[in-house]
Amino acid sequence: MLSLSDLDVDNRRVLVRVDFNVPLDADGTVRDDTRIRAALPTLRALRERSARLIIASHLGRPKGAFKPELAMEPVGARLAELLECEVRVPDEVIGDGVTKLVNDTTNKQVVLLQNLRFHPGETKNDPELAAGLASLADAYVNDAFGACHRSHASVVGVPAKIAARAPGLLLERELKSLRRLTHEPDRPFVAIVGGAKVSDKLSVLVALVEQFRAGDALLIGGAMANTFLAAAGGELGASLHEPDRFRDCKTVLEKAAARDIRVLLPTDVMVGHGLDTPEATHLRLGARPVGNEEMALDIGPDSIAQFGQILARAKTIFWNGPMGLFENPAFAQGTLGIAKAVAQSEAFSVVGGGDSVAALHESGLADQIDHVSTGGGASLELIEGKVLPGVAALAPDPAPFDSDPAGQADADPYAEDGE
Ligand code: ADP
Ligand code: MG
Repeated sequence: MLSLSDLDVDNRRVLVRVDFNVPLDADGTVRDDTRIRAALPTLRALRERSARLIIASHLGRPKGAFKPELAMEPVGARLAELLECEVRVPDEVIGDGVTKLVNDTTNKQVVLLQNLRFHPGETKNDPELAAGLASLADAYVNDAFGACHRSHASVVGVPAKIAARAPGLLLERELKSLRRLTHEPDRPFVAIVGGAKVSDKLSVLVALVEQFRAGDALLIGGAMANTFLAAAGGELGASLHEPDRFRDCKTVLEKAAARDIRVLLPTDVMVGHGLDTPEATHLRLGARPVGNEEMALDIGPDSIAQFGQILARAKTIFWNGPMGLFENPAFAQGTLGIAKAVAQSEAFSVVGGGDSVAALHESGLADQIDHVSTGGGASLELIEGKVLPGVAALAPDPAPFDSDPAGQADADPYAEDGE
């Protein structure tokens, strides 16, 4: 694969696919510009080399139609402040007006294309859209790690048509960091997996257990732990859990046991009546069942301490998924406690996942983590050992890539957008 510095960009048109899928406030302004900032090193490096930048991203889920509240103008305004240059946003993704605007733009200005998902061809990898986008540029750079697991037009279709293609600096760093987890990680390797559902993360749980060696450990929290506990016969009351995943939980535990891998589940939880409960009640599992109207919404202090002891000895840590309903401050302690333990550890640490990363930023501990990934779904697929379609498309001679070998396209192609 070429790298960014190999591309000839001087006064040439460079299409940069970025992940500017940022949260917006009700008034339409950018609430959190982390994702825009994450692409700045690549954008600045290209501008310093006099590239004419055409930047492209999706934003939200417009599902193939123009939605004024998801137009790119507010993102362009923020980008203009950060890059300190004029950012021009056309009305459309491709078309004569866009081509004219691009041709009229010098290397002093920047074009930010309209929301890619306003075009119905983006998520379908439509060849016409790919050709239209490719015709705008002489070189292609992908810095949208969070979108690399999607076989969308701007991710796989466009690079197939532009020989001068390379990953951006952010994408390069993501791949390098995540490779340290899958290629001879320093051991003990400890993974913490939480979040809402076993079904979202079953394949990564299996992949982790299969990569692990004796001494490595899997720590499970969040609502996902409820499903494991219930699968083992625990009474979880009204807690979020997935009865149709009990068999999958047992499979993970059996695979781990066969390989001498420790899997830790919470031994205590914090319960409440409903998601808005202002106060949490401590409950040691086994002391009494979770009541019919109660929900386990966080891991308890004993579990935080037990998980913390294992994390303190780890040499490599991967964390995906909050330990509880951290959006409610009464149930944020588990996630915060794990964030502290990971931050304090001397292990090489990687955190991924939209909600986990949001919680980490709230904790103020993000700068004590070695790598905070900008991609949830994409980072999980790398850990599973998959080749990301967007990365394969950057190879000099990409083998014909079957992005969907099993013939099962995503049930929801918009799920986990940019996460
Ligand atoms: P990530 O985005 O980091 O991959 P997920 O999307 O899988 O994480 O899950 C995050 C969501 O799971 C959060 O909204 C959090 O409130 C919720 N959650 C975690 N634990 C629980 C629990 N015990 N009960 C209900 N919701 C939970
Ligand atoms: Mg999430």
